[in-house]
Amino acid sequence: MSKTEELKKIKDEIVGLTTSPLYAERVANKVFPVIGEGNHDAEIMFIGEAPGENEAKTGRPFCGRAGKVLDELLKSVSINREDVYVTNVVKDRPPKNRDPFPEEISIYAPFLDRQIEIIKPKVVATLGRFSMQYIMNRYDLEWDIAPISVLHGKVFKGRTLSTDSQGSTFVFVPFYHPAAAIYNQYLLDTLKIDFQVLKTLI
Ligand code: URA
Repeated sequence: MSKTEELKKIKDEIVGLTTSPLYAERVANKVFPVIGEGNHDAEIMFIGEAPGENEAKTGRPFCGRAGKVLDELLKSVSINREDVYVTNVVKDRPPKNRDPFPEEISIYAPFLDRQIEIIKPKVVATLGRFSMQYIMNRYDLEWDIAPISVLHGKVFKGRTLSTDSQGSTFVFVPFYHPAAAIYNQYLLDTLKIDFQVLKTLI
């Protein structure tokens, strides 16, 4: 199967994920799951938390105000959004943008693991503490877990866990969530400084 076919399979499975506690919410609100979008051969994969209102309305990740901040950050390091892949840990919108519950992360995260296996990015860049914690627990970095205020912008080595191959290595960098920088100039400046590291990794 090609990468595109494998990613399409993930999409179909999420669309039909009636076992998710967020599925009924999706149907009731007539909104979409947000699978992820971008280059299937991306060197950088950005992973946010969960879709917000605009994202669920359009089915596209980071297309609202947090997305504008992400676009600004990418521009600041001359990286085109079309060249990266952007997704979230949780693929359906939690009601009123509440934090995702652990059981919601458990149900959607295997799809994220598969997206990482298929795309094989050189750099896995998390946006916010939920995706940071998930990736660090999942990819053998749990001993390094610390508050995001300590880890943001630091570079770690990760390895995918595929059983049918040796897995592949990637570099992991946690960033603050762009939504946190909407009204916080200090965090925006910090994100801009942290994003500079991406230029050294690709
Ligand atoms: N916040 C996220 O974590 N993901 C999105 O796609 C949008 C906002």
